Amino acid sequence: MSKFWSPMLPGEAAWDYIARLQGRENFESEVATLSDEVKVLQALVSSLAQTMVGAGVVDGAKLGDNFQSALETIFPKPQPVGPPPAPTMPDIPALYRDKQRPQISSAPPSEPTVACARCSKQVLHSKTNITGSGLFCDDCYAASPMP
Ligand SMILES: [Zn+2]
Repeated sequence: MSKFWSPMLPGEAAWDYIARLQGRENFESEVATLSDEVKVLQALVSSLAQTMVGAGVVDGAKLGDNFQSALETIFPKPQPVGPPPAPTMPDIPALYRDKQRPQISSAPPSEPTVACARCSKQVLHSKTNITGSGLFCDDCYAASPMP
């Protein structure tokens, strides 16, 4: 069986070879065989290029440029969607300006309440009177003021 990469194999014969492959039952093993043949081709092309460049038959840089162009034709680079966003500095004043400040209640702090020593009613501390028997609410103090 002639090899696919044989330089003597004309293009039309190559298409016949591919058509025969597609009709085969064990297509996967044929693909594996082709994979091996591709590796052989890689080795052949590589050694050819090294030999030709080493002998001065071809310019190595020119060969590299042409190879790169051929690769970009076969495998085009994906086009970038857009330029990457430029890094930005944080807006320092905004960080402080927009920072959540603790809420300060405008309502006065609640005044503690105490129990009247006489009637036991809970009254504001400011509405009590100091007596010898304890804190009396205004009402109890007004009813019977004590020294
Ligand atoms: Zn009272």
